[in-house]
Amino acid sequence: MKKILIVVGTRPNFIKVTRFKEVAKLYPNLEVKFVHTGQHFDKKMSQVFFDQFDLRPDFMLNIGQGTPTTQMANVMLGLENVCIEYQPDLLVVVGDVNSTFAAALTGNKMGIKVAHLESGLRSFDREMPEEINRLLTDEIADYYFITEQSGMNHLLAEGKAEETLFFVGNTMIDSLVAFESEVNKSSVLSEMNLQKGAYVLMTMHRPSNVDRREGLEILIEMIKSITSKFKLVFPIHPRTVAKLKDFGLWENIEHLDGLIFSEPLDYFAFQKLTADSAFVVTDSGGIQEETTYRGVPCLTLRNNTERPSTIDIGSNVLVPYNLESLNEEIKKIVDGTFKKGAIPPLWDGKSTERIMEMINKIL
Ligand code: UDP
Repeated sequence: MKKILIVVGTRPNFIKVTRFKEVAKLYPNLEVKFVHTGQHFDKKMSQVFFDQFDLRPDFMLNIGQGTPTTQMANVMLGLENVCIEYQPDLLVVVGDVNSTFAAALTGNKMGIKVAHLESGLRSFDREMPEEINRLLTDEIADYYFITEQSGMNHLLAEGKAEETLFFVGNTMIDSLVAFESEVNKSSVLSEMNLQKGAYVLMTMHRPSNVDRREGLEILIEMIKSITSKFKLVFPIHPRTVAKLKDFGLWENIEHLDGLIFSEPLDYFAFQKLTADSAFVVTDSGGIQEETTYRGVPCLTLRNNTERPSTIDIGSNVLVPYNLESLNEEIKKIVDGTFKKGAIPPLWDGKSTERIMEMINKIL
């Protein structure tokens, strides 16, 4: 029996690993277990996803709150103990969060092979904490599971051996495909009194946008402009609430006509809202991909993206962080001149199958 330990820590991580245990049933010689680092710990950012996907972490590290350094050190100490106990043959680390790199480094130090899921993505913006995590994780990983062509190109350019690179597609899309019927059953639209195609969905949490007063002031201006024309649903990330309160700006939008605030939503409700929205405004990584798969216009308020296939192939555009640029793109959507996207290669719901097939060959 070969043992695979998958390390997850944050909301976007959980959403990328929903199919592994199911697919592993096809391989009696492979066992898959999850370790949850606890980087995201509150119910709405963590437990709700495990419930909806019917998953359970096999090991919990409970790293607690703290600075990135404290959290990463705690991941390493906790994961070392789990690896001593479980003796995995392969550690799979996911995405680009602090838990990802801390886990990869632990595997490397313990002589355990490390596979990086969603590797090779690059924003080329070293101000983003995630970019540093991506670069360092890929530097020490042994195997690379790649979601889009740019990932192959970057890893080859960085000198990685071709036989360690596996272009498998996107496991986040596997979750969309696998849970489509639950998503369709969600009653979130009627609960929020929304009509299909007649509202906008927003998420915003990147430090570059929400950690500075000026960024938040521009965001408030954008929210006021959007709500003058559309209903706007804004499931708000805990980080963004905290920053709005810190800067004394929360009262400016707390009671705005047309703005529907919610806490972070569960996966089924959020996907239903995405699928039926007129368009999405975001600074998220993963939401650029989900909207591309669904062909929903996505206005990404960032200067760069590590997911260029959503721009080159999909329905995503990068929008400079100001009201005028946002309104230009909204006008195109309203006028029907916004681009029509397509689905990138291998985003077909079968990426986990491809990965497990590769792992079976490797181990
Ligand atoms: N998501 C969710 N509920 C929400 C907001 C987002 O389930 O209220 C999901 C979304 O569908 C996507 C993932 O969370 O799958 C994206 O996470 P996030 O934007 O926090 O992280 P990023 O992708 O930017 O790293």
